[in-house]
Amino acid sequence: MSIVVETVLTYLPSKRKTTPSGWISFNAPCCHHNGHTADNRGRGGVIQSDNGISYHCFNCGFKCSWQPGRSFSHKMRKMLQWLNAPDDIINKVAFDVMRENEGVQVKERIAELPTFNTVPLPDDAIKITDTTKFDKYSMEVLGYVASRNLNTDDTNYYWSPSLGYRDRLIIPFYYENRVVGWTGRSVLPDKKPKYLTEVQPGFVYGLDEQSYSKAFCIIVEGQLDAIHIDGCALGGSEISEQQAMLLNRLQKQIIVCPDRDSSGSKLVERAIELGWSVSMPDWADNINDVGDAVNKYGRLYTLYSIANTAEDSPLKIRLKAKKWFG
Ligand SMILES: [Zn+2]
Repeated sequence: MSIVVETVLTYLPSKRKTTPSGWISFNAPCCHHNGHTADNRGRGGVIQSDNGISYHCFNCGFKCSWQPGRSFSHKMRKMLQWLNAPDDIINKVAFDVMRENEGVQVKERIAELPTFNTVPLPDDAIKITDTTKFDKYSMEVLGYVASRNLNTDDTNYYWSPSLGYRDRLIIPFYYENRVVGWTGRSVLPDKKPKYLTEVQPGFVYGLDEQSYSKAFCIIVEGQLDAIHIDGCALGGSEISEQQAMLLNRLQKQIIVCPDRDSSGSKLVERAIELGWSVSMPDWADNINDVGDAVNKYGRLYTLYSIANTAEDSPLKIRLKAKKWFG
């Protein structure tokens, strides 16, 4: 028996019934987590099929399933948590599934997943902390890094003395430890364009930082915002199929934290479609993105407020979005 099926069966409530068609029914543990009243009429049920398992709640409508070869979904993880399975057991299940799938799916993945070529940074780019090259332009860029509460120890920031780049902060895009793109953000308030970017289709910023030990991954629109919270950036307000695939492959809870503008509200609908969580923390009205929040509340509180207000239920997400986008 697969470890997923075995674990679900182990943690089912002891009070349960088996129907002739194979459903095991019990009081659903999901409902009150999804904004419904708790079930006391045995409306939750699991059934085994093709060495996998499906759960369906006839009270709140929550569903989740797993089949051999498929990834261990965020919803399956939730379900096991609601059944009071300990976190270390759940992590072991997730890890085993990932290992098992790795062998089987390598071929499919190569066909589906985007690949990224290594690219050079702009001409003469050097690390911003390279003191041998300090001049008035690099000082300006360094001043910008400080004013945005960014820490030069965390990330490799670059700068280039070449014309067109000397008043830009260059942020390399890494994938599997290779530079596969970059963005040069102007440090002058009125400079157009604000960003000069070299990016390949399907790229998600920050994937290398999403280690196995992290329970969730926060997705924002801009790279600097992602750096603040060790999250990932889409580089815009859209999520392509390839980006979704790369993020789902992390097998973590994905929490989208949109910018507070009209494109952000579209991003919310897309996140719901992908079955991801959305977070719209109760920040002050003039806080429009993670960067603003970090300036006002600091990094730790910003991270806490995002994780703490993440919602899964489409109904709750849409209600909150009405207020948030006002
Ligand atoms: Zn339910």
